[in-house]
Amino acid sequence: MITIDEHVELKGFTTLKIGGRARYFAVVTTTEELKEAISVAKEKNVSVVVLGGGSNTLIAGEEIDALVMKVEIKGVEWVEEGNSVVVTSGAGESWDGLVAQSVERGLWGIENLSGVPGSVGAAPIQNIGAYGTEVREVIEWVEVFDTKTGEIKKLTNEECRFGYRDSIFKHPEGKSLVVTRVAFRLHKDGVPNLVYKDLQNYFYEESNSSFPKGGGESSNRRISKSLGLRPLLLGKGELPTLAEIRNAVIENRSKKFPDLNEFGTAGSFFKNPIIPEAQFNELKKKFPNLPGFPLPSTLYPLPSVKVPLAWVLDNICGLKGFEKGNVKLFEKQPIVLVQNGLATAEEVETFAKEIISQVKSKTGISIEWEVQKIS
Ligand code: NAP
Repeated sequence: MITIDEHVELKGFTTLKIGGRARYFAVVTTTEELKEAISVAKEKNVSVVVLGGGSNTLIAGEEIDALVMKVEIKGVEWVEEGNSVVVTSGAGESWDGLVAQSVERGLWGIENLSGVPGSVGAAPIQNIGAYGTEVREVIEWVEVFDTKTGEIKKLTNEECRFGYRDSIFKHPEGKSLVVTRVAFRLHKDGVPNLVYKDLQNYFYEESNSSFPKGGGESSNRRISKSLGLRPLLLGKGELPTLAEIRNAVIENRSKKFPDLNEFGTAGSFFKNPIIPEAQFNELKKKFPNLPGFPLPSTLYPLPSVKVPLAWVLDNICGLKGFEKGNVKLFEKQPIVLVQNGLATAEEVETFAKEIISQVKSKTGISIEWEVQKIS
């Protein structure tokens, strides 16, 4: 029997540390418990709201008239299939814990996603991405419980309809699906993905020259005392190991992203906008230094460019460190919204609206929340 609590304060379950109470609240650790929680919600005639790691969530201030369910289904299995390993993880496992275990086992594929907060179940919802890797690249299937039909089914990678920080789970047709388990295919042989400048700079002295592609483990390491936290610089042709990549990603993130013990934050609050190439070219005339990353035509049939919003907020809108009341855009990374512990959900929404409207008026670009609102 699961325990259903009432009028439970939710802010402690999110990294933004904001939010009101849940009319009903349950922690579920198995699919059986999940089914039980759904039938309780039906009995009480309230909807079901799923909470994962709470790292990408803004919870409304007023009481949520629903059964808020925290999915803590655990367990990880590793099955070898030739040169790869299919890893199946419960939705309630910690994402970064899974990355750490994969790296320890010498498995490639998610090392660039080190340090991403949240649960395994939240990873496909957001199609989490960092340092040139998106989780969709390794997802085999996502097991879901459909709260409408009571069925458990497995969605293939294609059925998840992954997009940039997007998936079916963010759209009305996926709203009744609760992620219970996710399977990933990781590889015993892998090649470092060092496409992001920050990682190239971390490992190589002259990163604007071409960094090595493919090849084996590095052996001939040099220690550079002048680099402080970064004792490792590789020579040409040497490649970092899995553990070194994980450390580099974690170190880079810790330099740019707020300490969760100090601030309430949900990481990137907005998505980087994807705009038509023609619009990008027009903006480039006005802002010649505007960076842009052309997107593969296989995923975007219309020529499209991803624009780093942090650059726009800083260089076009002058909003780096912009502060109003208890909310601000983080100085080291303005796409990240932080609050000082006193902000309300309404205050965050008003602040976000102002940022959206400033970006629109200065660039014509419509930006969207990456964070999911629960109300
Ligand atoms: P960064 O490396 O300073 O890059 C700034 C932006 O430019 C990023 O948003 C990134 O887009 C884009 N970019 C940079 N190099 C690129 C390339 N070679 N190809 C395509 N796009 C490129 O970013 P950062 O702020 O330090 O963050 C590092 C990574 O961690 C980024 O991937 C970021 O998305 C990820 N991250 C995400 C969150 C979150 O809350 N979702 C939080 C922390 C970090 P992308 O964002 O699309 O990669």
